[in-house]
Amino acid sequence: MIYLDYNATTPTDSRVVEAMLPYFHDISANPSSIHTAGHKAREALEGSRTALAELLKSRNDEIYFTSGGTEADNTAIKGTSFAQDKRKKIITSAIEHHAVLTTCEYMKKFGFRVVKVPVDHYGVVDLDFLEQEVDDNTLIVSIMHANNEVGTIEPLEKIGEIVHRHGVIFHTDAVQTVGKIPIDVRTSGIDMLSLSAHKFCGPKGIGALYVRKGVRFDPLSHGGHHEGGKRAGTENVPGIVGLGKACEIALDEMSAEEKRIRKLRDRLWQGISERIPELKLNGHPEKRLANTLNVSVKYVEGESMLLQLDARGIFASSGSACTSGSLEASHVLLAMGLPHDMAHGSLRFSCGRYNTERDIDKVIEVFPGIVEKLRVMSPLYRP
Ligand code: PLP
Repeated sequence: MIYLDYNATTPTDSRVVEAMLPYFHDISANPSSIHTAGHKAREALEGSRTALAELLKSRNDEIYFTSGGTEADNTAIKGTSFAQDKRKKIITSAIEHHAVLTTCEYMKKFGFRVVKVPVDHYGVVDLDFLEQEVDDNTLIVSIMHANNEVGTIEPLEKIGEIVHRHGVIFHTDAVQTVGKIPIDVRTSGIDMLSLSAHKFCGPKGIGALYVRKGVRFDPLSHGGHHEGGKRAGTENVPGIVGLGKACEIALDEMSAEEKRIRKLRDRLWQGISERIPELKLNGHPEKRLANTLNVSVKYVEGESMLLQLDARGIFASSGSACTSGSLEASHVLLAMGLPHDMAHGSLRFSCGRYNTERDIDKVIEVFPGIVEKLRVMSPLYRP
């Protein structure tokens, strides 16, 4: 099996699993309990908060654990909206993950106007458009750090500058970047940031929201006084410990790992682009996640390529993993100006920690043949 779908989710690192194991049984007390066992669980939880704060360069009391990226995005947008009643405009981008887009759409029910900033053909947000739209009625601007489908990295610092001139909150969905590239919330102008452990070899079902001190938001769930009263419910201690361990590993290994993975990704692009004519690279040529390769293959459907690769034990993705159950063309690629046929003919390879050169060479060996076979069957293809 060759797994090249790391942007959908990653295998949990065995060091993370090992760190989590004691917290399922031996140290399984409720961290809110005042007995010694409870203290131990609390200590582990706070240790993970410290590890994450170190990775983001934030304070510990600016971290709120959530069930993942989706909940963090929901909390940022709904939480800030419900905490005030003056500003009624939300700005986001056309290429956000559905966790942000659908949440913004939902806020229309409560009288909010939603504006989507367009992107250029590389997937970079239009800063002039943003500048024109941010005004005194705008509550929050939610623009992702890097796109999950094409990997394009957005200019966070410039966005932060524009947003703050109007006293607006800047939220970024950094689910695809935390643990992969360095982030410093002190210098990047970010007020709120969403992340998810399962995108950087941590466990699924755990994430966090960073909230700059002083930014007001209402909780999504009400109950006990967990997470400073901002997220009720007994904490997922094993998951939080796993997230903390994934952060520690990222702090130590992120830079070397990024270089190694970039080489694999570039080897793959070189290998397939030399062998397959009429192949288009989607996303920014340089300002892009080191692990992500999204291509459009003319005359061929992404789903057909996926199935053929799958039959050979190679797992990739067409469009976002979260939407690949449906056959709608990717909203990201359409927003970048790709015609429908090229959007439908897209494939995303995303590499990660456990990939090797042999994996890449195997894909280079089999993928061109798959494309050729499918093209021969296409009524539009003239070799
Ligand atoms: N935001 C982005 C950019 C993502 O890629 C994903 C997952 O695919 C999410 C949010 C949702 O995160 P989670 O799966 O932790 O809810």
